[in-house]
Amino acid sequence: MRQVRSGAPEVATPLMTARILAVFYAFGGSAGLLALLGASPHSDRSWVAAGIGTSALIGAVVLALWGPRWPRAVFHVPVGASTLLLGSAVALVPDPLSAVAVASIVSFVAVDAFFFFRPGPAVAHLGAALVGVSTVLVLRGYVPVPTALSLVAVVLGLGVVTRDLAWRATSASRDPLTGLANRRGFDDALQELLAAADRRREPLSAALLDLDHFKQINDTDGHEAGDRVLVRAAESWGARLPTGAVLARHGGDEFALLVPGLTGDAALALVERLTGPDLGTGVSCGVAQHVPGETGAQLMRRADAALYTAKAAGRGRSALDGDRDSRLATELAAAIATGELTVAFQPVMALGAADQVIGVEALARWQHPERGAVPPDEFIALAEQRGLITALGEQVLRTALTQLTALRATTGRQLRLGVNVSVHELADPGYVPRVAALFAEFGWPADHVIIEVTETQLECDVAVVRQNLEALTALGPIVAADDFGTGYSSLSRIDVLPVQHLKLDTSFTASITTSPRREQLLASIVALADNLDLGLVAEGVETVEQDALLRRLGCRFAQGWLYGRPMPVAELALWLDARSADGAFSTVR
Ligand code: C2E
Ligand code: CA
Ligand code: CA
Repeated sequence: MRQVRSGAPEVATPLMTARILAVFYAFGGSAGLLALLGASPHSDRSWVAAGIGTSALIGAVVLALWGPRWPRAVFHVPVGASTLLLGSAVALVPDPLSAVAVASIVSFVAVDAFFFFRPGPAVAHLGAALVGVSTVLVLRGYVPVPTALSLVAVVLGLGVVTRDLAWRATSASRDPLTGLANRRGFDDALQELLAAADRRREPLSAALLDLDHFKQINDTDGHEAGDRVLVRAAESWGARLPTGAVLARHGGDEFALLVPGLTGDAALALVERLTGPDLGTGVSCGVAQHVPGETGAQLMRRADAALYTAKAAGRGRSALDGDRDSRLATELAAAIATGELTVAFQPVMALGAADQVIGVEALARWQHPERGAVPPDEFIALAEQRGLITALGEQVLRTALTQLTALRATTGRQLRLGVNVSVHELADPGYVPRVAALFAEFGWPADHVIIEVTETQLECDVAVVRQNLEALTALGPIVAADDFGTGYSSLSRIDVLPVQHLKLDTSFTASITTSPRREQLLASIVALADNLDLGLVAEGVETVEQDALLRRLGCRFAQGWLYGRPMPVAELALWLDARSADGAFSTVR
């Protein structure tokens, strides 16, 4: 028979514990009531015994309903209580035969104690139950001592075999050296805890702990010394974990830890406490907090990335995933998936005797639950780096179309819609069919769409981007070179850029009234755009001086705070109303 180490961990998870206990309470209660039914003569005391059987049945319901939420330590109460109930029931039963039948229910304690608890507490529970029940049997004069001992022997044998079978049955999920869960056991626990965390909306954190210079210990002091360090780590950490935490040996000298209920910061503090200097060797840790919707593999990959960061920073350290950026990226992915991103619309004006609103530019907005509004420049760049920009762009376009078609339905205004598109989106051959499908879905005329691509990104000469831009133009939208005037080479290549509009950058507009040379440059750009038949939109118009100069030089379109800030669609509706009411602007319909 396999030696069971005294530090061996519990076999059953709290969920299993609650379920098995509920089953035992239900069967124990029923068995007791049946034994009573066969007993004679019935007296007042048998009614009390029947009450105990009924309480056991109620206990089964309580365990089934609420037990799965209890920390492991709480289960000592129902196991201990079962001994008390049983002892009392045996004392109350009227005849010896039924008393022995009821006493035999003690075998349940043998099975559950070894299944739920470490060997020490399990022996204590079983010992208390056997001593209690056999003492009552003997003192009440139901059976002689040897008979009581025979019951004890049977139940003891059952307990020992249960522990061994349970141990063997779970050995595929356990690391034989440390007795901890192995990778397989860990993966099972991870799935269970992830589901629970998502269901209860509670935090869950994972950590990877790696012994520093373990190979050196193995090489210089031998494998047994290495094994001793691993066992010591498992015991010292295992003893100080909060309830519900799962520690596993992930392989080699790497341990993995799951802590339900703790945020990443709290889990980081925990592993820093655990991995104090007492182990004799340094430990590097990577910690990650589960983000709702993420898979177990993704969570562990982030913990691994954090571990890598910790090691790179010089070992013996702990790091929380990630760097701020990777956390933000994970949250951004969730925000895109849940439709948490919103869209603000900024009016674009046609400058003339009576100014007209010709359209709006859709600008993505992200209100982060803790950080507040994240600047678009920041999260757009992040989305581009982390491969989220296609999903983001599609989400923004869909939201813009949803809101503007609703606005069109109530006001009858068919605005032009400007959307910002990253070159990463245009590098996807499926881009044009996708947006074409969206325009069709909303009944939005494709020739009322302006695709804005920053000038510097247009410079990249990728075949598929060029083909997409041509296909877009054929479909209907106008392509605009955004942030025009901030790049360097465009002026010389302006004739070959696949665009029909130029959007003069905010920084350029800001300088036109402060520098005569800039004013000259603007005049040249206006002339150039006219000659090449390109539309020109000045962005970032903030002052009446800028507005006057743009009109004087013949720039036909403008956008900026002077006319209207980016705003949610409801505000845009009011803004449009106010403009048409006071007659300052009229709208192209
Ligand atoms: P952009 O395309 O150049 O957008 C114009 C930016 O100028 C917007 O900044 C707008 O709020 C700001 N702006 C408008 N009028 C004025 C003004 O009078 N003065 C000043 N100082 N600024 C003004 P925002 O909203 O912060 O967006 C920043 C950039 O993020 C955008 O620059 C665009 O490149 C990018 N972006 C925004 N939404 C999206 C999107 O859905 N997809 C992609 N790919 N990029 C987006
Ligand atoms: Ca733009
Ligand atoms: Ca711009």
